[in-house]
Amino acid sequence: MEKIRMTTPLVEMDGDEMTRIIWQLVKDQLICPFVDLQTEYYDLGLRNREATKDQVTVDSAEATKRLGVAVKCATITPNAARVDEYGLSQMWKSPNGTIRAILDGTVFRTPIVVKGIEPYVRTWTKPITIARHAYGDVYKNTELRIPGPGKVELVYTPADGSPEVRATVQDFAEPGIAQGIHNLDASIASFARASFEYALSTRQDLWFAAKDTISKTYDHRFKDIYQEIFDAEYRTRFEEAGISYFYTLIDDAVARVIRSEGGFIWACKNYDGDVMSDMLSTAFGSLAMMTSVLVSPHGYYEYEAAHGTVQRHYYKHLAGEETSTNSVATIFAWTGALRKRGELDGLDDLVAFASRLEQATLATIEDGEMTGDLAAITTLPNPRKLSTQDFIAAVASRL
Ligand code: NAP
Ligand code: MG
Repeated sequence: MEKIRMTTPLVEMDGDEMTRIIWQLVKDQLICPFVDLQTEYYDLGLRNREATKDQVTVDSAEATKRLGVAVKCATITPNAARVDEYGLSQMWKSPNGTIRAILDGTVFRTPIVVKGIEPYVRTWTKPITIARHAYGDVYKNTELRIPGPGKVELVYTPADGSPEVRATVQDFAEPGIAQGIHNLDASIASFARASFEYALSTRQDLWFAAKDTISKTYDHRFKDIYQEIFDAEYRTRFEEAGISYFYTLIDDAVARVIRSEGGFIWACKNYDGDVMSDMLSTAFGSLAMMTSVLVSPHGYYEYEAAHGTVQRHYYKHLAGEETSTNSVATIFAWTGALRKRGELDGLDDLVAFASRLEQATLATIEDGEMTGDLAAITTLPNPRKLSTQDFIAAVASRL
């Protein structure tokens, strides 16, 4: 068979531990036999981040700006234990954080829905995608422990020398805590645009929710920016696409999400997105069945699995034991990237290949062949629990 051609390389970001093993298997058995795979390879494995003083992470993000589409393997975010384990000279920052800061994007997480892995919520027949704003709020905060009586204020000192603005946070009569957070109009606007664009490109309704009734300035600003951008830039395009934009309070949104049938994008502020994406991935069945894509307002895409490097399984693997690690989200990271590359370059057979690989993966599970995490929760009778390698081989045989 003549292999499917690519015209622009993907940025390939390799990673760590069990997902690094899966990465190679997926490439060797599911992609390279069919696609003349072109990638610009960056090894984001922790050893190479150490060797390059983390320059490789920056380089891979810069390459994504140049080439437009990246696929990333899960990577270790070092903590104190990892500094010892890998003999690190520094506790390098989260690669995802570094990449996000360079690409300035919004992260969309979508569960992979498959027959036999039923959501805990009976009415959910279609996936719910979370769009998480990835800048500011409590993730870039300043906090104080207040030891005793005294006043905490917010003070804004304008750079142009105009008068200071002050507001009292609390006149403390006793010990307590205080926190300062912020966000930027430009970041909120690019979050809104990324969400509107993603809704259009996937033809799904967009919901956005905040707590503007309580947070009359802060959350209200999010609501206003969304509405202004929708009215000015997207209302007509949404009407043409037959989709809608809908704002409601966050608590109302939570109630509606549970009653819904799915099939929409739910844009969340940073903290809401952090919490709700874990709830949704579990409620849809498994963390290992969640895909993630970073969409930048400039039109760059970075695809990955939502889970980590599955360290516990890796140590079993190193000890020579058989593992049963789910490769579905990693496979879908590759198909997402290949499909997007195909769409951008007008390569119909690359787009079709991405869909065939996804179908082969889902068909394998629906035929009752799956990894242990799914075998434990499936509603299919007599599932066969396969090893990491055998599951990928089972997908390959269908492909
Ligand atoms: P994790 O790798 O997501 O794994 C947590 C647990 O979830 C696993 O022990 C396993 O449960 C289950 N699991 C996750 N993915 C699975 C899969 N594909 N197949 C089967 N089971 C799966 O999270 P972690 O153990 O907290 O983190 C490990 C490393 O990953 C850390 O160094 C962290 O920094 C990194 N991390 C990276 C990313 C990223 O690159 N995007 C995201 C999160 C974490 P059982 O052990 O019960 O089987
Ligand atoms: Mg979370």
